[in-house]
Amino acid sequence: MARYTESVCRLCRREGEKLYLKGQRCYTGKCSVGKRSYAPGQHGQNRKKISEYGLQLREKQKLRRIYGVLERQFSGYFNLAERKKGITGQNLLQILETRLDNVVYRLGFGVSRKEARQLVLHGHFQVNGKKVNIPSFLLKPGDVITVKEGSLSSVKIKENIDNAGNHTVPEWLELDLNNHSGKVKALPIREQIDSPVKEHLIVELYSR
Ligand code: SF4
Repeated sequence: MARYTESVCRLCRREGEKLYLKGQRCYTGKCSVGKRSYAPGQHGQNRKKISEYGLQLREKQKLRRIYGVLERQFSGYFNLAERKKGITGQNLLQILETRLDNVVYRLGFGVSRKEARQLVLHGHFQVNGKKVNIPSFLLKPGDVITVKEGSLSSVKIKENIDNAGNHTVPEWLELDLNNHSGKVKALPIREQIDSPVKEHLIVELYSR
């Protein structure tokens, strides 16, 4: 499957803000947004007025990059969000939040969504007792995510579990460190999703 393999810090610089794609490094002075607060590339420092379309496009790219989703899959999520009852923009965020890789990250079992995605791909997690290695797997209320017994010896997993207690878990999830598992209590509402996007701009973009 295609995926983005270049420097993720370039993505933050392109959006002009921290998207927190690299775990701990994002909270240190090494963050590239702090050091070079202009877009990457030859014309990155040229200022230009951004059109309405440009604003909508940037918002969509930002959301896509936060969750590490490629264009085609993102547009599939948008179609799904449109078909669901409720507000399309909020449905879209809800779908992205319930991806397995995001939930693994939100529970603190991965330090970034990128790492969580890799851990899922390597088969370290079970959903309701069955191994699932699909990062885009969509979870629903009541689902239980558990670190596989055999994966507890992995240094990375162990380190993440040890640090998961210091991590703020959103209200719609429940972390059970004793059983190295987490549960989806409910679908997240907008106020529980801290992604810094104006989702109505994305809806406007797709309505063009
Ligand atoms: Fe973005 Fe983190 Fe890189 Fe800073 S360190 S530019 S927040 S990915």
